[in-house]
Amino acid sequence: MQPDVLVVGGGIIGTTTAAYLARGGASVTLVERAELASGPSGRSLGLVSGPHPPELRSIAERSLQAYLGLARETGAFTIDANDVGCLCISPDGRGLPRGEGEALDGDQVVEAEPLLALRCAAGVVIPARHVDPGGAVSAWAEEARRHGARIRVACPVRSLLDDGGRVAGAATDEGAIFAGCVVLATGWETPRLAAGLGIDVPVRGVRGWIVTTRPAPFRLRRPINEVDFSAGVVAGPLLTLGDIAEGNVGTPIIAAQMRQDAAGRLVLGASLAPAIGDGDDDGAHAVPSICRRAIELIPPIAEVPIAETRTCVRPASFDGLPLHGPVDGIDGLVLACGHRSHGLTWGPGSGEAVARGVLEGEWDPALSPARLEQKASA
Ligand SMILES: Cc1cc2nc3c(=O)[nH]c(=O)nc-3n(C[C@H](O)[C@H](O)[C@H](O)COP(=O)(O)OP(=O)(O)OC[C@H]3O[C@@H](n4cnc5c(N)ncnc54)[C@H](O)[C@@H]3O)c2cc1C
Repeated sequence: MQPDVLVVGGGIIGTTTAAYLARGGASVTLVERAELASGPSGRSLGLVSGPHPPELRSIAERSLQAYLGLARETGAFTIDANDVGCLCISPDGRGLPRGEGEALDGDQVVEAEPLLALRCAAGVVIPARHVDPGGAVSAWAEEARRHGARIRVACPVRSLLDDGGRVAGAATDEGAIFAGCVVLATGWETPRLAAGLGIDVPVRGVRGWIVTTRPAPFRLRRPINEVDFSAGVVAGPLLTLGDIAEGNVGTPIIAAQMRQDAAGRLVLGASLAPAIGDGDDDGAHAVPSICRRAIELIPPIAEVPIAETRTCVRPASFDGLPLHGPVDGIDGLVLACGHRSHGLTWGPGSGEAVARGVLEGEWDPALSPARLEQKASA
């Protein structure tokens, strides 16, 4: 049977988009190359928190309500029932979120987390909850299935079917799947698939590493985030072949992010480095740097045994806002990617917005892929 919509990618954006499309009555097939949540969607820190650019505030609020609603209805994944607050800190007071949360002076930062050894000029406690990222992706996939969607895992899309300026479906390892509309929710790899159509999707990969410990003999009061640093790599120029040839790839940006799970394990991040794929080799620098920064903030962490490290790649658009919408000049193709460090946070709201766009043709121009094409030719 030919679906109305083929969603490619089984991360948080693909599964939520499929669920909202199916709830809206569309016939949907989702294909995932590996397993559901095998990319950053299943490997991230799992914080649902800001700061949110104004364009994403409503999506962020709708996401949170959608997570809470689905968790309540299905019991299939966990999310903090109440706001636990995330302590955003900045040694010199710069870069802190504005207009969100409760502003703190240096003394109040110490009160907010007595274990913090780093003296900060200021801080802000912003609303935050932890969601089990892999569990949430599975639950959204199940929600899509419940409304009739077909989910195929271990089914890579090799190319998109170009029918003279119109995308007619995709070639997969299980044969061609024809569809009225193809949604690319393939994270940082979206440019690779879209290139076959002669377009360059303005999304880059930003690699991150996370270090997890065994249970610590102390408890942090709340997650800590050393400002929102994800704009760092996004703001920089793209790496060129000349940079790679000369070894000018820079060192990963490191900032402390930490949360403690129910077992007392500390989940520590994170790094940001331009990702180019199989050739990335920043782990030898990123992992020790994450450990060093965590110890500077909370010295007793030095004695806690390490359990594991993991890495994954964020999809970041060239201006830091996601791409939601059709591509000018190519019918039947919709992009849903580029959510950088906030894909979990903005996921269900984004899926809902993309599904509404596909079903009703209503798109937010601020998130439309055309905004970046316009900037490029301005
Ligand atoms: C270290 C780190 C920590 C993070 N912490 C947080 C956090 O605390 N809170 C937060 O909100 N966000 C966080 N993020 C960001 C978040 O993880 C991402 O923004 C989000 O997961 C992106 O989701 P996605 O669905 O767009 O992409 P992905 O999760 O990459 O999903 C895309 C899927 O498409 C599949 N795919 C790719 N190509 C094909 C193909 N050809 N055929 C079929 N399938 C294909 C992939 O296998 C993948 O499963 C973090 C990211 C990193 C790296």
